[in-house]
Amino acid sequence: MCGIVGYVGGGQAAEFLVDGLYRLEYRGYDSAGVATLDGHGVLHLVKTAGRVDRLQARLERAPAPGAMGIGHTRWATHGAATDANAPPHLGGDGSVAVVHNGVIENHAALRQRLLADGYRFLSETDTEVIAHLVDHCLKGAGPDADLAADGYEALVAAVAEALAQLRGTFGVAMMFRRRPGVLIAARRGSPLIVGVGRGEHFLASDASPLVGRTGRIVYLGEHELAVVTPGDLRVVHRDQGRVRHRVEQLEIDSGQVELGPFDHYMLKEIFEQPETIRAVMAGRIDHDAATAKFGGLNLAPHELRAVDRFLMTACGTSWHAALVGEYQMEALARIPVEVEYASELRYRNPPLCGHPLVFAITQSGETADTLAALREMKRKGYCTLGLCNVVGSTIAQESDGGIYLRAGPEIGVASTKAFTSQCTVLAMLALYFGRLRHLSFDAGLRVIEQLEQLPEMVAGALETNDAVRRIAEKYAGCDNFLYLGRQFNFPTALEGALKMKEISYIHAEGYPAAEMKHGPLALVDANTPSVFIMPQGPVYDKVTANLQEVKARGGPVIAVVGRGDTEAASLADDVVEVPNVDDFLQPIVSVVPLQLLGYHVALLRGCDVDKPRNLAKSVTVE
Ligand code: GLU
Repeated sequence: MCGIVGYVGGGQAAEFLVDGLYRLEYRGYDSAGVATLDGHGVLHLVKTAGRVDRLQARLERAPAPGAMGIGHTRWATHGAATDANAPPHLGGDGSVAVVHNGVIENHAALRQRLLADGYRFLSETDTEVIAHLVDHCLKGAGPDADLAADGYEALVAAVAEALAQLRGTFGVAMMFRRRPGVLIAARRGSPLIVGVGRGEHFLASDASPLVGRTGRIVYLGEHELAVVTPGDLRVVHRDQGRVRHRVEQLEIDSGQVELGPFDHYMLKEIFEQPETIRAVMAGRIDHDAATAKFGGLNLAPHELRAVDRFLMTACGTSWHAALVGEYQMEALARIPVEVEYASELRYRNPPLCGHPLVFAITQSGETADTLAALREMKRKGYCTLGLCNVVGSTIAQESDGGIYLRAGPEIGVASTKAFTSQCTVLAMLALYFGRLRHLSFDAGLRVIEQLEQLPEMVAGALETNDAVRRIAEKYAGCDNFLYLGRQFNFPTALEGALKMKEISYIHAEGYPAAEMKHGPLALVDANTPSVFIMPQGPVYDKVTANLQEVKARGGPVIAVVGRGDTEAASLADDVVEVPNVDDFLQPIVSVVPLQLLGYHVALLRGCDVDKPRNLAKSVTVE
């Protein structure tokens, strides 16, 4: 959560900082601020509660000149979203300015110590503790340690000493009033990227602010600290001292981070799905062997053959994808699957016998709970596989094997295209593991045939947009929604309900349709629409019976059905027809109108679709 930016070079820092904060705003949007240092050694601090727009307006009145600076867009963890708590924060008498992503767990104890040492706090944040602590360590290193002509040795030592006292997670960037021309950045658990330009360097929490600025990037690793000047980048590891860094090529282009003709990123991303699904399959189908192939599994075939259970861990939408994966694995590969919330798994101690393979599923690859669960499973000696979208992310780096989702940057806070890519990869993995075991060549080919039609089927599901908008107009005033499906479409129901609640703030619940009579049916009334996900398949008749139970109690019904289904059309109040596909792929097609329903209802209710209240993308705090 939160976006950090930094700049040191020859241009005006504020220009990149604000531009970058706009691009990172989806990561946190409670407050925003920048600090710059001008050529006279004057530090300019401009910050505000609220969005980057507000910061921009403030900067128009009070510009922040200077060829170096840092900036932050916040998702508050400690202290409300007020001007005082807005980042950056200054240490001591303003010797150092700090921005921080993450949580400092021992902030209270450190604050007490610093208060006893005479430091005065202006905010309730844990970030300000870091700023004062760095100042304290700098002062402890001698009267002019920050000025020492030693290639920043004393500066780095003081920062490292401060960081060593922190418990928790952080990405930090800082600059020093008396030391123009150098930024220090460091990470433990939260991502940071350095962009390498000509005579300038950039810092950013993810690659999007760097698009159009530089194509060369360096991913900072765990426990690494970067000393960044206009012409030089030096990386120091906590335990290994100076390390060589690898400059990589930025793979994102500007079309991927810009809205184009769409009103919102969420809508853009919903409509990208035929393409993203095509991309996630490209080069990963082996027709000759009737199976899928993945470059990054990093396990020998005999090791993969020995895998006899999966433990899938994830949060939010990714957890729903894992549930879809559970059904797919069971159907195609006949391998038992356990799906567990990462936030639970990290503190559980499940006895796993046999040869489990642990999947960590996450869009950002930075989700704090998923990362912690992955590390705990690795520590226990289990093999791990990361399914991530963001290239170079922490989970991609730390898993034993990895599969990228290739969905491109997902900027809308409500995940859409990452979900369908996750489900597609899981279907391909189910095919792969099925083919290692009992699944015949012919059956494998049939699965491939279905997979290859998927982009077209999802494009067909997108044609429901107008019909879904009309349904949204009818029900946008309702305060409760139920989403119901069975088997493969039970997770679809959960995901549909999540889309609705996270962006429209309507209370929505997903259930296996048959569970209704065990409680939720009591919620049904004329103002509570039930969305049934009921494409053709083995449980169709059962779900139809559940639908009738709702109708009999006066509840309006919206049915998502397979094309040509006249039976459901005669029972439901509103019908959305999607293309017919095999049941193991239905969630990928059926979820599309549910994404659109959430989108249109949120829009009609005047909600900020891309930046829903209280939320942020990339949940890097526990
Ligand atoms: N913990 C810090 C705060 O509350 C930073 C949170 C963030 O990652 O935005 O301000």
